[in-house]
Amino acid sequence: QNVILDVEDLRVYYETPKGDVLAVDGIDFVLYEGETLGLVGESGCGKSTAAMGILQLITPPGRIVSGEVWLDGDNLLDLSEEELRKRRWTKLALIPQGAMNSLNPTMKISAQIKDVIETHEGRQSSEKLKKRVLELFSMVGLPGRIYNMYPHELSGGMKQRVCIAMAIALNPNVIIADESTSALDVVVQRVVAQTMLRVKEMLGVSMIMIGHDMGLMAQMVDRIAVMYAGHIVEISGVQELFHNPGHPYSQLLIESVPSLTERKPLKITEGITHDPRNPPPGCIFQLRCPFVMDECRRIPPPMINIAPNQQVACHLYKEQPDGSIIDVRDIA
Ligand code: SF4
Ligand code: MG
Repeated sequence: QNVILDVEDLRVYYETPKGDVLAVDGIDFVLYEGETLGLVGESGCGKSTAAMGILQLITPPGRIVSGEVWLDGDNLLDLSEEELRKRRWTKLALIPQGAMNSLNPTMKISAQIKDVIETHEGRQSSEKLKKRVLELFSMVGLPGRIYNMYPHELSGGMKQRVCIAMAIALNPNVIIADESTSALDVVVQRVVAQTMLRVKEMLGVSMIMIGHDMGLMAQMVDRIAVMYAGHIVEISGVQELFHNPGHPYSQLLIESVPSLTERKPLKITEGITHDPRNPPPGCIFQLRCPFVMDECRRIPPPMINIAPNQQVACHLYKEQPDGSIIDVRDIA
């Protein structure tokens, strides 16, 4: 499998009068060609900040403290604003959280899509542009009759599909979609989710889907990265994660979807979280973890492979000299 996007040690902090909030504190992951990777975690865990960091869209009081984001031979975090602008939409497109509400209300839908195309490719004949916009409409299942409509004339699901059409207008290699379905009702959510998958199949684009609905994620993505308090604590295939979550926090998330599990609920300490300006040394999840051990309070757990398609950052798992993995709960 080829890696299309490689994120290394990305850190994004927000300055506050009481000190920096460590919103994203050293995340590492790769996205494979043609893959859909889910990025999940409760609100405030840093998922959206991670997406904005990857595209270098962090604005003060936020700042990128460290990291590399490799796409097609370039470290995006090294590029100038101008060089970056050339790659946005053409190589990497973002559908930001609430995108459908940020469509320009005074501009026709078609004009907004043409704008994206012409900004990158220069002026083109109006027949050619119209043909392209109508093609994009049909790819995302929108009827041609909305060509002359304004955003307020469309339903939420249609507006969301307009945003998808815009994101694919310049044929990017990677699309990052942040909570693209969460403002919609359940039926519309499914339609939008299906549209994304269809677009993915047609274009062979790789995707990062950010969300918190584990049930929807399970149906849409190949692998899932689980975030907690600015850290990725597990990256696993959907099957591995749902049938055998490795990290205690992943287990908690899976249990929040009753239809997906028959596991006995884990007793997680609710409500106690650390100050995001002053995380404890060691494991980021230690205050809520029912399995916390002495070393968890001192040493950050490294990410290790506990199964072929499952990486977990947790001291419960120890690699043996022969390469096998033991769970310390089995020997205690
Ligand atoms: Fe719990 Fe320790 Fe694993 Fe952290 S490293 S999740 S505290 S067992
Ligand atoms: Mg968010």
